[in-house]
Amino acid sequence: MSVIDVSQIEDHERFRAELASIRPDGRRRWIYARKPKGRFTRMRTAVSVVLLAFLLIAPYVKVGGHQFVLLNIIERKFVFFGMPFWPSDFYLVAVLFLTTIVTFVVATASIGRIWCGWLCPQTVFMEMVFRKIEWLIEGSPVEQAKRHAGPWNMDRVLRSGLKILVFFALSFVIANTFLSYIISSDVLLRYVTDGPLAHLELFIGLVFFTGVFFAVFYRFREQACLIACPYGRYMSALVDEKTITVSYDHVRGEQRSKWNRDDVAAQRASEDTSAPFSRPQGKGDCLDCHQCVTVCPTGIDIRNGIQLECVACTACIDACDEVMDKVGLDRGLIRYASLGSIRSAQPPSFLSRRVVAYGLVWIVLVGAVVTMFAMRSSLDVIVTRQEGTTWVQTPQGMANFYQIRLINKTGQQTPLSIRVIEPAGISLRPLGLPSTLQPEEIIKARFILTDSRSVSSQKVVLEVRTADDSQTVTTSFVGP
Ligand code: SF4
Ligand code: SF4
Repeated sequence: MSVIDVSQIEDHERFRAELASIRPDGRRRWIYARKPKGRFTRMRTAVSVVLLAFLLIAPYVKVGGHQFVLLNIIERKFVFFGMPFWPSDFYLVAVLFLTTIVTFVVATASIGRIWCGWLCPQTVFMEMVFRKIEWLIEGSPVEQAKRHAGPWNMDRVLRSGLKILVFFALSFVIANTFLSYIISSDVLLRYVTDGPLAHLELFIGLVFFTGVFFAVFYRFREQACLIACPYGRYMSALVDEKTITVSYDHVRGEQRSKWNRDDVAAQRASEDTSAPFSRPQGKGDCLDCHQCVTVCPTGIDIRNGIQLECVACTACIDACDEVMDKVGLDRGLIRYASLGSIRSAQPPSFLSRRVVAYGLVWIVLVGAVVTMFAMRSSLDVIVTRQEGTTWVQTPQGMANFYQIRLINKTGQQTPLSIRVIEPAGISLRPLGLPSTLQPEEIIKARFILTDSRSVSSQKVVLEVRTADDSQTVTTSFVGP
């Protein structure tokens, strides 16, 4: 196997062999990303505010007695938008999970890593919360770089100390928020009022996850997307030349050269103004100003094409648009476009053949999910014969013993009744079966079926009814 000697690679080809944030000797190259500003940053900020508000508030919102979203993997109980799912609904959760994955596949094949740039909690917290706090405490990226290269004076100690304190406090809030999705906000609040010593194991877990979040946002940062996240890799594999993503228009931008507003004005003055603006021979619109690079949170140069490190955060679009505005050139040298559309100078299309194929699979899955939801019951009933029993002759007739397990999947109290539908002549005597089910109650009880006609083995159909559901159950009755 041949080994690539990185030192032999030309500078402009380095990105093929190196990560922007890792030095050739393996040490970290710290990214001091410049503050982006512009229309995409404003839109992303608005989306992030909505997402963060949802994340923080959703565990405290109740719908029909259920937490709005609950992901209790310990007890295998899930609630989505106030709708509870029990272990018996596992097939539905599995199909829902599969549909979610296919949704991401369709979206990625069509519009690239939209999840990473706009919706992923890692990006939202890092770029919209932690990095903004860092700018507040430590100043601009240039100031940060200068201070970090300098000695540990009082100013540096104080700012670093404050940053660690704030980052840790925020990480603690995030760990608590995620915990409220797992054990529920009610249980979390109870544990908080009980005090940490009353639930020491949980508190240790909470501190551990606070440490993990702190490490990610204080130190690990973009490496989480580059190294740890498998999702970023599989999304990259779904992108092809028809995918619309954050792209540099190399046809328009190359050959890079230093332009300024006067050059543009002079060029325009020498042209027929009714014709589209054209560059002088041998000059592209890219000014080689590196604004798109210094603003990038993963430290890459988008002009090298689509790269694994690009999380499609759109910061470089805003940075380049600002430069284009300043020199009087058209915006969009970096924009949402597909490689194919840039090459062909045609508008990009969201619907490639591959996207249509994935879309058809997605429609089938969504149809299956909707059907399953429509047919889903709010009551689970399992009837089995009492273990180790056959039949007993009683004065009333031949009797069989049964066990019944019931789950009230709703958050409401409901009346409960059970009766024999067929055959006629069989009576049912409940043993410990309540007449009311409490919200989300799981009960196990027994009952006896007695056949006064002394007919031998037969099928028996039962009906179990609550306020808003009824289930028909078939079981066997054995005789001599
Ligand atoms: S910001 Fe725009 S003009 Fe400046 S280097 Fe990047 S692509 Fe070229
Ligand atoms: S290249 Fe542009 S879109 Fe991609 S991560 Fe960097 S700034 Fe964001």
